Amino acid sequence: MAELVSGGCLCGYVRYVYTGELESANYCHCQDCRKTTGSAFNVEVRVQSTALSIVSGQVKSYSKIGDSGGTIIREFCPECGSPLFTKAPAKPQFVWIKAGSLDNPMLIKPAHQIWTDSAVPWAYIAADLPSFRRNRQI
Ligand SMILES: [Zn+2]
Ligand SMILES: [Zn+2]
Repeated sequence: MAELVSGGCLCGYVRYVYTGELESANYCHCQDCRKTTGSAFNVEVRVQSTALSIVSGQVKSYSKIGDSGGTIIREFCPECGSPLFTKAPAKPQFVWIKAGSLDNPMLIKPAHQIWTDSAVPWAYIAADLPSFRRNRQI
């Protein structure tokens, strides 16, 4: 039996549990993922939709034709706006969870990246960039 995986949005209104095995995780550099995350790329992990349950709150959704030509449904918390799930009606057996919404994001090991033709140069952090263990003191 797989370890119970839980997660939720930033404000705590939407909470979910997943009872299956986490499947492949990946980075996505597509324009839509950049917009929906407000960041350089999306990190998502594929799961079985039948093993995923929302245990509190309700998501709001936004539907759009993705870069690949299929309809993509993006679900998010209506209170704090955190992106949580992506669904593709053409593949109803799967849900893609935003990796950062997991309570234990250390469970994720991205195995590949997709849509790299759309990647922005700043998606890749230069190893020699000045770094601070916590917030930078100004
Ligand atoms: Zn929320
Ligand atoms: Zn994407």
